[in-house]
Amino acid sequence: MRILGVRIDHVDMKSAVKKAAESINPQKPFVIVTPNSEIVVKANEERPLLDFIENAGMVVPDGIGLVIGSKLVREPLKERVTGIDLMVELVKYASTNRKSVYFLGGKPGVAEQAAEKLKERFPGLEVAGAHHGYFKGLHTGAKGHSEELAVIEDIKAKKPDMLFVAFGAPKQEYFIDAYKDILGAGLLMGVGGSPDVISGNVKRAPEIYQKMGLEWAYRLAKEPWRIKRAGALPIFALNVLIKKDRPM
Ligand code: UDP
Repeated sequence: MRILGVRIDHVDMKSAVKKAAESINPQKPFVIVTPNSEIVVKANEERPLLDFIENAGMVVPDGIGLVIGSKLVREPLKERVTGIDLMVELVKYASTNRKSVYFLGGKPGVAEQAAEKLKERFPGLEVAGAHHGYFKGLHTGAKGHSEELAVIEDIKAKKPDMLFVAFGAPKQEYFIDAYKDILGAGLLMGVGGSPDVISGNVKRAPEIYQKMGLEWAYRLAKEPWRIKRAGALPIFALNVLIKKDRPM
């Protein structure tokens, strides 16, 4: 289906994990995108992002706004499939199926901490590598002599089955788009702030907020600087009401 011209797949958690698991292939890397309303608005402004989503292996509805929007365009999505929940499910799958994982992004130390937490939770998990997301280079935006090449070489050498990239959207999407074919990873997924939560550095909204579709409100209350980004939400809602599945 489409919301404001952006592709969103009709998947629930179970079918998403199944499809991803079947699609891991270093020769034909499987890309997962997890848009929310903000990304849908951004994809209407940035053509390369729109094309990236269009050509991804799977596009899951991360945000509650998309689930509500899908009802307005009369193609109700089954459920919200959040990036963090899907990431944890895929890591679980990896741990029982001898697939290796690499965590890229977040502040120094966070990727390693998240990896440790996941190893405790899923014994036998093979962590191929972990690297922070503040190296200098085109895609993180940090200025100076590029360190991006070294990061790419590290991933290439470690050949992870799954690569989770946590630079926030759409930085991580552009990174994946640029390098997916040379990294040798079988599956690539942008996961935003998920390692912050998994490592225990940031608290996720209590389940009651998640169930009520108010996780975004909790986040906004905890991190008020997000208000600037949340400006996309009324634009999204209004446009879905008027234009529905057509681009903005
Ligand atoms: N980040 C990074 N490199 C950068 C900018 C951001 O690794 O150059 C990390 C940041 O530390 C945080 C994540 O990217 O862990 C962005 O999280 P956020 O919650 O803002 O992303 P969202 O889930 O909203 O896309």
